[in-house]
Amino acid sequence: DLYPVRRALISVSDKTGLIDLAKALSARGVELLSTGGSAKAMREAGLEVKDVADVTGFPEMMDGRVKTLHPKVHGGLLALRDNADHVAAMDEHGIGGIDLLVVNLYPFEETVAKGADYDTCIENIDIGGPAMIRAAAKNHGFVTTVVDVEDYDALLTELDANDGQTSRAFRQKLAQIAYARTGAYDAAVSTWMADAIGEEAPRRRVFAGTFAQSLRYGENSHQKAAFYTDGSNRPGVAAAKQLQGKELSYNNINDTDAAFELVSEFLPKDGPACAIIKHANPCGVAKGATLEEAYSNAFDCDRTSAFGGIVALNQPLDAATATKITEIFTEVVIAPGADEAAQEIFAKKKNLRLLLTPELADTAAPGLTYRQVSGGMLVQDRDNGFIGMDDLKVVTKIAPTEEQMKDLLFAWKVAKHVKSNAIVYVKDGATVGVGAGQMSRVDSALIAAKKAERMAEALGLPEPLTKGSAVASDAFFPFADGLLEAAAAGASCVIQPGGSMRDDEVIAAADEAGLAMVLTGMRHFRH
Ligand code: 5GP
Repeated sequence: DLYPVRRALISVSDKTGLIDLAKALSARGVELLSTGGSAKAMREAGLEVKDVADVTGFPEMMDGRVKTLHPKVHGGLLALRDNADHVAAMDEHGIGGIDLLVVNLYPFEETVAKGADYDTCIENIDIGGPAMIRAAAKNHGFVTTVVDVEDYDALLTELDANDGQTSRAFRQKLAQIAYARTGAYDAAVSTWMADAIGEEAPRRRVFAGTFAQSLRYGENSHQKAAFYTDGSNRPGVAAAKQLQGKELSYNNINDTDAAFELVSEFLPKDGPACAIIKHANPCGVAKGATLEEAYSNAFDCDRTSAFGGIVALNQPLDAATATKITEIFTEVVIAPGADEAAQEIFAKKKNLRLLLTPELADTAAPGLTYRQVSGGMLVQDRDNGFIGMDDLKVVTKIAPTEEQMKDLLFAWKVAKHVKSNAIVYVKDGATVGVGAGQMSRVDSALIAAKKAERMAEALGLPEPLTKGSAVASDAFFPFADGLLEAAAAGASCVIQPGGSMRDDEVIAAADEAGLAMVLTGMRHFRH
């Protein structure tokens, strides 16, 4: 199953490593065919190259839209060398076999990422490249297809190990990579177009990402893992620049995403805010007069859990906050910038990862989220629902005060980012108890209150900060019991979607307990 490489077609946009590869192939007696820019580069390096235009008898035309789309090329890639009819057709039409195809595509994804205009993006959709890749990969019984600069060395190693030939297993592996590339490429085009025309519906979509990096392991060390980007270049963990620290792990990336999405709910103009995340749930979220204060307040919600957490800030990291953060072990800090003094402080903590983003995430932006299930995938709009003061309906005898209202809306924003069932207690712009991911809402209310009690003891406070707090529930209270648990913890006002069959019971219980309650009419399940 070895097949010799005698004739190669090289057509690459990314010319990294091109000359070295071409020289190495030429030295092994491989004849080189190539397109305009690639041929020019090789010629300038003193290599003998044949223009594809000379093979096809047609010049490259229409701004390069038509270069290699010709039977002399595609016949050479697709002909089965062991099929008499195919070989006869080659002879009849003067088609020479192409045994090796080296192509990398017009940089469509990079062009989109740069924010290029519509027409520029369209012009960067490669047509001939994918056509050749698909043809060569289909014919991997004979043809070797290389689409990635990373595979040049492996190709040469393979040729040397097999006396100028490649094995079927090698060609098959490269064919699989080739189809991954063309699939991802067209997915990127379709996804970009959906954005460009404002098509938001989660149907007639294709899901593919661009491989970004291998991860050391997945959620656990026995699981292999990798990170893919979706080409959207959204501000967030994928597009962030890592300034220092070890490589991010799978769990780091997941948690950093949760932290950054949450802190992005708090616009910089409304003051500094900080979110600390553990296992994708917030263990503290707070605002503050300064960023340092925001961090400290967030930290005081649950100091135990904050250890080894992920910290997200809504404003550039400054020296005071950096100093405070380095007092305990933190895995990752993500922020929209960091001043020089802060960077110097962090530089002393070699393992601490610092990620910088150009700006916060746009929580109102449309988009889709995916979740894999056995045998399929669930796709939905991202949860960009927003509730403002005007959307709230007061249903109790007493209405929240202005201060309570602020805490209620704060708690609501946080609850959106807590795994259901979520119960979040907030006092003075800081979470004071978070109950996450319980199967019963009552248990979430209880756990959050219990954590607040423990923190009060640790901080030497006379009573837990849940006393007089605002409490948010991500979905309605089906019964009064969850609400009563929050009341027992000392909550004085409640925000929740409403809509339960027993709303009347729940409202009556709130009135009896002397609570103010507002309904949002929107829930924020997050599983
Ligand atoms: P060069 O720099 O050699 O002029 O062009 C190389 C690029 O052209 C590669 O990215 C290759 O995929 C692309 N390409 C090759 N043939 C065609 C074609 O017929 N049409 C289009 N649109 N692109 C092509």
